[in-house]
Amino acid sequence: MTSHPVVLILNSGSSSIKFNLFDGKTELITGQISGLGAEPHIKFDTHHGQGDIDQLLSPQEGETHATALQALLHLIDAEVGHISIDAVGHRVVHGGADYAAPIVLDDAVLADLRKLIPLAPLHQPHNLDGVTAAQQAFPNAVQVACFDTAFHRHHPWVNDTFALPPSFYEKGIKRYGFHGISYEYISAYLGQNYPGGQSEKVVVAHLGNGASMCAIHNGTSVGSTMGFTALDGLPMGTRCGQIDPGVVLHLLTAEAMSPDEVTELLYKRSGLKGMSGISQDMRALFASDAPEAAKAIDYFVTRIRRELGGLAAVMNGIDTLVFTAGIGENSPEIRRRVCMDQEWLGVEIDQRLNDAGEEMISSPSSRMKILVIPTDEEEMIRRHTLNLL
Ligand code: AMP
Repeated sequence: MTSHPVVLILNSGSSSIKFNLFDGKTELITGQISGLGAEPHIKFDTHHGQGDIDQLLSPQEGETHATALQALLHLIDAEVGHISIDAVGHRVVHGGADYAAPIVLDDAVLADLRKLIPLAPLHQPHNLDGVTAAQQAFPNAVQVACFDTAFHRHHPWVNDTFALPPSFYEKGIKRYGFHGISYEYISAYLGQNYPGGQSEKVVVAHLGNGASMCAIHNGTSVGSTMGFTALDGLPMGTRCGQIDPGVVLHLLTAEAMSPDEVTELLYKRSGLKGMSGISQDMRALFASDAPEAAKAIDYFVTRIRRELGGLAAVMNGIDTLVFTAGIGENSPEIRRRVCMDQEWLGVEIDQRLNDAGEEMISSPSSRMKILVIPTDEEEMIRRHTLNLL
C-alpha cells in the first residue's frame, strides 16, 4: 500500500505505448510496449539497478492497445506488487482550439477529441485508443489528457493565422503548434532555477526525432515553428518541415501522386532520412562519410538558424536560448553549428562548456544565456495529472 497518489503516464502511438508509473514523485517502473499487432514486446526498467529488461509478449497480449495494457497490469503486479492506480495521465497530441489546459476525460471531452482526428491522423487516433484501453484496464482511475497544443493557445492572432479568408481560421485551419508539454516543462524549469527566468524572452529548440522551436515570453508561448500539423517548420527524422504548398499541389497533379502517397512521402520518407537516404538518426548521419549525410545535417542546422532569427524578431530579442530533446541535449556539434557566427544576435557559445556537457554553455560575453536542459514531458504530465486529482 502507498500513501501517495499512484499515477500512470501513457504515451500511446500507432504500434507502441510508452509508460511511466509514479508513486508520488518516485518512478517505480518505466518502459515501452512496441510492435503491437506484429512482434509485440515489452522493455522496462524498475530502477533497481538491473537496467532495461526486454520480454516478448504473446501475440494475444500484444494484439491491441487494450490487451497490451492488461499485460502491463500483470507486469506491474509481478514487478512492483499489487498497487492501485489512482490516475492515468495521457499525452494527447491535439486539443484543438478549445482545450488550452489539461482536463479530466469524460465521454463528452472524448467525443470532442475524436473530432480532431483529421487534424492529426497519425497520432490522435492512437492517443485516444490508449485512453479507451486505459478506461477498460483501470476503470477506477481518473483519466487525464495533456495536450501538445495547449501551451500554444495564447499566441497572438498574427502568429496563429494563415493568410487565408477568415472562414478557414474559424473552421480551425490555423497554426496550433506542438511539443507544448516539453516547452511548458522547460519554462517551469527556468522559473525554478533561474531568477526571473520565466519572465524573459526565451527560445527553446526541441531537437529530437520530431523537432520544433518555440518563442516564450513571460512564460507564455508566443510563436512556434510548427503549424496546422506537426509537419511544418524544421526538418525532422522523417518529416519534411517547411515546404512550399505549391510542391504539394504539384505532387498531386503533375506527379499524379495520391493524397496517401503524398502523406507518406512528407511524414515518413522526408527529413533527415529522405535527404540522406541513410537514416533518420542523427548519430548515424554523423558516423557516415556519405556527402548526402553531411548535406542533410547542413540543411537541419540552416533551418534552425533561420528560425532562430525569425523567433528573435517575434519577441524583439532573446534573453535565453535553450537546447533540448535527443539531438539538442546530446550533440555539442549541432549546438556549435547553430551558434557559430551568430554574435550579431547576441549568441556566443563557450566551446569548452559545450563539449563538457554543462547546463550553461554561453561565454561570459554572450548577450544571451545559452542552456542545455533535458526535457521531461512525463514529469509535466505527472504534475498536471496530480493537480487535477
Ligand atoms: P528524441 O526524439 O528526443 O528521443 O531524439 C532522438 C534523436 O536524438 C535521434 O536523431 C538521435 O540520433 C539523436 N541523438 C541522441 N543522442 C545523440 C548524440 N549523442 N549525438 C547526436 N544525436 C543524438
